[in-house]
Amino acid sequence: MPPLRADDAVEQVRARLNLVDIARQHARLRKQGREWVGLCPFHQEKTPSFAVNEQKQSWFCFGCQQGGDIFDFVQRIDKVDFPGALGILAEMAGVELPERAPGERRRTELRRRIIELNELAAKYYQYVLFSLPAGEPGRRLLRQREIEDEVGRRFGLGYAPGGSGLTAYLRKRTLSLADAQLAGLVRRDGLDAFQQRLVVPIRDERGRSLAFTGRTVVAEEPRKYINTRETEVYSKSRVIFALDLARPVIEERGHAVLMEGQFDVIMGHQRGVGNAVASSGTAFTEDQLRLLRRYTDELVLTFDQDASGRQATRRAIELAAGQGLHVRVAHLPGEAKDPDEYLRSGGRWEDALAQARPGWEHWIREEIADLSPNRPADVEVAVARIHGVLARIPVPAVAESVRQEAAIWFGMDPKLLTAPAAQRKPARLSSPNSLSTNPPGSNGPPVKPPPSRLSARVAHLLQVLAVRPDAARLAAAELPLEAIETDDREAVLRMLSALAEGGLAALRQHLPDFPEEERNLVWSAWAAAPPRCDDELVQELIERIVQATASRRRSAIIGRLLEAERRGDEAAVETLSQEWAMALSQRQG
Ligand SMILES: [Zn+2]
Repeated sequence: MPPLRADDAVEQVRARLNLVDIARQHARLRKQGREWVGLCPFHQEKTPSFAVNEQKQSWFCFGCQQGGDIFDFVQRIDKVDFPGALGILAEMAGVELPERAPGERRRTELRRRIIELNELAAKYYQYVLFSLPAGEPGRRLLRQREIEDEVGRRFGLGYAPGGSGLTAYLRKRTLSLADAQLAGLVRRDGLDAFQQRLVVPIRDERGRSLAFTGRTVVAEEPRKYINTRETEVYSKSRVIFALDLARPVIEERGHAVLMEGQFDVIMGHQRGVGNAVASSGTAFTEDQLRLLRRYTDELVLTFDQDASGRQATRRAIELAAGQGLHVRVAHLPGEAKDPDEYLRSGGRWEDALAQARPGWEHWIREEIADLSPNRPADVEVAVARIHGVLARIPVPAVAESVRQEAAIWFGMDPKLLTAPAAQRKPARLSSPNSLSTNPPGSNGPPVKPPPSRLSARVAHLLQVLAVRPDAARLAAAELPLEAIETDDREAVLRMLSALAEGGLAALRQHLPDFPEEERNLVWSAWAAAPPRCDDELVQELIERIVQATASRRRSAIIGRLLEAERRGDEAAVETLSQEWAMALSQRQG
């Protein structure tokens, strides 16, 4: 049969598939009159506002005011573009898509056969693990790992007893052993590729088995884990382990939890961390983060607590920043070496999450952990190390807010941290004419947004106030104006006086006169409220603002102290050291 044209394929898909069937895979729908209705799969709701019209093959949500046909539905639910949706639906419908290059059809065919073989192998392994005496070594390992049967089945775990059991099973079904070799399931000598191993299917985000990891059950076996080598369907740098299971939970909780090992993830799901995923047999790659970005823009990292885990954490922070993802690093309280051990020993995930810090903060705090702000020599080392990290931050506005904060984490004068940052961004320090805004018609680099004038703390507070105008009274009462510095102070004043004048209505009315940065903060808070807006957070932000200013003033002393040391002015060093000691004792108080 000659390949179809693209629009023919679209029509064939429409003819063969029913939107109701597709939608029911993602939402529980009831028939109501001519329509099917249920809770919307695209937004959180308690009363159904999602409706599918079977006759028209269209859907609409009265909550999020979105709708469309079967292609729009798949585009939104699978976070793919139109060709992506067409690919998914064509496969479901058994419609052959037009070929882009000769040989592609053959490859598509081979991919389909390999996935089919993998699915069969997974079934075989699972049957051995849970139903045959030969599966006992695998079951023993599950018991040691404290993995419940139900969870094992959810992950499709199986046991490969060894010999040529799988080979015989496939041959009996008259499947091609040559294909099975290409799939990495069967060795050239006719034996199964996996021998005496607990096997873990590596599935793509849609749940198709692409490859396997085999964990040995033999104590003296030197290769503890082996993976299917790269095949026509499996490229280890592109697949994320457990994404098929974690997807809905990632969307529900708004973030994904990245772990290092597959057993960390399995234990995570068993203990309620249903949004946990892992890379398999490699550090996280750009491709993998790009895949995750379809589902969330926030990652929580929890890798092993050793040197290589630390390395992997830093690499992930940097890669994620390059893609505009937010990163936090969870902290496992206690001695556990990895999340598996932590969760198995009864550790609560909420505790680890509660202590999670933003990625760059985590990195910098780790760098300065062994240094003391009381020793001027240490301060110089800290400055160098902090600059080392700041230089890796791709977004200048983020680097700037981290720079301000970093001085405070360490307890020193933020001025000491300016030099290299200023070199990277000369526009900030020069005259307004030379700001990176291009004159009309120029061919220069694209216009950059102006750097942020506000500190991250104050920006956060403004966003909270924009959605919780009633907290303005608390802020006005608790935040002494002398504890805020110039730009920050003006912004807070503008917000508080607008809210005092007439709440949100007054804010909306005055907003056009606000500086752009503040306007954007308010708009974005209105579009998506900050995750927390309670009084406790307001108090916490106020405290941080007060602390930051105090710390900045206190630590200005250190700048003068270093300067005096360089001059060799011993009298000044003496006086300033005393001032510094006093400032520190005030901080305790
Ligand atoms: Zn909706």
